[in-house]
Amino acid sequence: MLLKDKVAVITGGAGINGLGFATARMMGEQGARVAILDLAAADPQAAAARLGEGHMGVVANVTDKASCEAAAAAVQARYGRIDILVNNAGVTQPAKFLDITGADYDRILDVSLRGTLYASQAVLPAMLAQQSGAIVCISSVSAQRGGGILGGPHYSAAKAGVLGLARAMAREYGGSNIRVNCVTPGLIATDINKGKIPDDKRQGILDGIPLARIGEPADVAGCVVFLASDLAKYCTGVTLDVNGGMLIH
Ligand code: NAD
Repeated sequence: MLLKDKVAVITGGAGINGLGFATARMMGEQGARVAILDLAAADPQAAAARLGEGHMGVVANVTDKASCEAAAAAVQARYGRIDILVNNAGVTQPAKFLDITGADYDRILDVSLRGTLYASQAVLPAMLAQQSGAIVCISSVSAQRGGGILGGPHYSAAKAGVLGLARAMAREYGGSNIRVNCVTPGLIATDINKGKIPDDKRQGILDGIPLARIGEPADVAGCVVFLASDLAKYCTGVTLDVNGGMLIH
């Protein structure tokens, strides 16, 4: 068991086909007690119940600082500590650069970037009190190559911002034994892109992936579990690519 008795908070973890839920499931299997934070419409309590006994779901909006603080307080009230945070909540939108409105920009950056700030700020006091913790932020290959497959430039910017925020946190909190790392998934089959890849583009996309397949949520979850676990205890500020070789750099 890689995460025995650890308490893990996962934002945006309620979508059962998503990266967050796959991570929640794998962390539970590795012995963690998991708190799934998500919007009310995503029903995080129902998602947590699917993991079995001992886990919890909390309604939280990561773009709202008070909501993140209330969620972290609820997790601490139940488990008494927070060992792991996975900043996973994110939304995307295909858009050409000149078409991005201010509202689009706010919506996309708010969930991935402001959400990473607020959720991390909410759990850091507990981690500082413990003098231990691991934060894993879900960025994207889109941050590294100036666009993934679907998201527009504002999505690339949001995910690049996540890399910067995470690296700065890694520097600031390393002395408190709090590690902060990122994963940069390539194209992974989840609800975020379901039905959005035109059939005529599919083969071209696969031709650009050395491992010759679209990723599965468990591919990402395994890497998140690794970074959150003591196997990675000397890793901080790392960006771990999970893209099948789509971007080798
Ligand atoms: P998903 O749509 O299944 O998951 C996103 C989750 O975030 C949903 O459960 C949603 O309800 C939640 N969410 C949205 N706004 C929120 C808010 N304000 N507060 C709390 N929760 C909120 O998609 P996914 O593919 O599992 O995406 C998970 C993460 O991985 C995202 O950050 C996404 O940008 C990133 N990512 C995905 C891929 C991919 O190919 N699927 C690639 C790179 C990065």
